[in-house]
Amino acid sequence: MLTLTARDLSRLSCLHPDLQKVIKECARITTIPFSVNETARSVAQQQKNVAAGVSWTMKSRHIKAPDGRVYAADLIPLVDGKATWSWPVYHRFAPIVKQAARNVGVAVEWGGDWKKSKDGPHWQLPWAKYSGK
Ligand SMILES: [Zn+2]
Repeated sequence: MLTLTARDLSRLSCLHPDLQKVIKECARITTIPFSVNETARSVAQQQKNVAAGVSWTMKSRHIKAPDGRVYAADLIPLVDGKATWSWPVYHRFAPIVKQAARNVGVAVEWGGDWKKSKDGPHWQLPWAKYSGK
């Protein structure tokens, strides 16, 4: 059980309620501490990210959808209280997030399962079920 910080919670507030549910359930069941990193991202920031090659699409779920909600969150596992980008840690953490999603009956996609440019911290609600309109 992990207590989300005030900063984590404020970052959650822009998310679709189903994604909030997954992250709160994840905090309840996790054995690996994590923090909520990026949620909402401006169009200008995404343009910079694409130009810098750290993102590859303007169709990012971090950008507010027409309904005003954000459908993606970056969750960063912590090792000794510090953010990690170590894939073995993400591979242990991802099943916990997926279990949390099953517990609350919400479908999620993990950036680590993408074929093209894998994104370990990235979690989003699927376009097919959540158009954002
Ligand atoms: Zn992301």
